[in-house]
Amino acid sequence: PDLGADVLAGLRDIADFPINGVVFKDFTPLLLDAALRDRIVEDTVARRRGTVDVVAGIEARGFIIGAMIAHALGVGFVPVRKEGKLPSAVHRLSYALEYGTATLEIHQDAVSNGERVLVVDDVLATGGTLAATCELIERCGASVEAIELVLEIAALEGRSKLEGQEVFSIVTV
Ligand code: 5GP
Repeated sequence: PDLGADVLAGLRDIADFPINGVVFKDFTPLLLDAALRDRIVEDTVARRRGTVDVVAGIEARGFIIGAMIAHALGVGFVPVRKEGKLPSAVHRLSYALEYGTATLEIHQDAVSNGERVLVVDDVLATGGTLAATCELIERCGASVEAIELVLEIAALEGRSKLEGQEVFSIVTV
């Protein structure tokens, strides 16, 4: 069974969301399909088992898949959140998005010196979100071991913002 093909078949294109002109890849059907969702988690876990100390997931879809991956790897989970949500002291970074700007935060004590972090999100688009996340993890003194994604939109060239990182996407369009 071809996981990439099944993921593609499970995604849904939503025109003009969140703004006119953007075709949004809706990830929610993949979450609803328990067997497919578990295959995504198992595929990622098989690549990363024993190589990471903690998983960082990006709000909000990265929380869902990232928490499942952290559970399966038997490691802790760190939320990278939108501005103003985390209660303790944070590192904060603002960046340009495909649509607008955004700010991400991480708890300063969430990851520590020398820890190997697996970063998880659903989609790599322009790469700004992942580049900011990697920078926040490095500000904490930890290192990004790899980035795992379900979908990569190659035309938006997000990889060019992630030079020096190991980036794996289950499927690329
Ligand atoms: P980037 O910073 O790479 O442009 O955007 C990536 C972030 O926006 C990710 O957190 C991702 O969840 C979200 N995103 C951007 N485009 C899409 C899309 O078409 N579908 C989904 N599900 N998320 C998207």
